[in-house]
Amino acid sequence: MSKSGILIIISGFSGAGKGTVVKELIKKDSFCLSISATTRAPRSTDVDGVDYFFKTVPEFEKMIEEDALIEYASYVGNYYGTPKEYVLDKLNEGKNVILEIEMQGALKVKEKFPDAVTIFITPATFGELERRLRKRGTETEEVIQNRLKRASEECVFMDKYDYIVENNELEVCVSDIVSIIRAISLKKENSSDVIDKIKSDFNK
Ligand code: 5GP
Repeated sequence: MSKSGILIIISGFSGAGKGTVVKELIKKDSFCLSISATTRAPRSTDVDGVDYFFKTVPEFEKMIEEDALIEYASYVGNYYGTPKEYVLDKLNEGKNVILEIEMQGALKVKEKFPDAVTIFITPATFGELERRLRKRGTETEEVIQNRLKRASEECVFMDKYDYIVENNELEVCVSDIVSIIRAISLKKENSSDVIDKIKSDFNK
């Protein structure tokens, strides 16, 4: 039987550059990304079915009722949630599945799937975070202020994550995450097939 993949939960302050990091990670064969459902309005750069599945509130609430989501949360006035079927199928195929989700959802998933690895991406300073959020130029001042407020609330819970990775240089950040996942895949609990094979070879 093939090994199940690793569930990787990536969070970070809005503006921390998680999206870019995740895009780099999924260029690698062993990683894939879960596409979330949301009720927030699409940005000009968003593509439905690629960046998100954009839903109305009643459509989203129907997904909740039908237990079609692994988790969902409300973030700055909108629903966001992770569709269940795709994630479970890909893990069974042995892929490492990335969920790029905010903190409430991340902690819920960790409770349900204790073997999931939680990674928090952050710039080195709050000032750098604000600079990046403004540079993106896709949000109104009100949304930027809400997101900064949310970041200041979230930093209290950063230490609940298994790993904190600074995103100062993209390549370093991506390679840090690849190293974390590689180390987890080499843990003895995840290598029982190798152990069994070597033991059985010795007993031949
Ligand atoms: P944005 O509106 O900038 O695309 O996303 C806002 C926040 O929602 C980000 O922190 C993002 O990681 C989070 N998010 C995206 N999809 C999900 C999801 O399926 N569940 C949860 N809990 N958060 C999500």
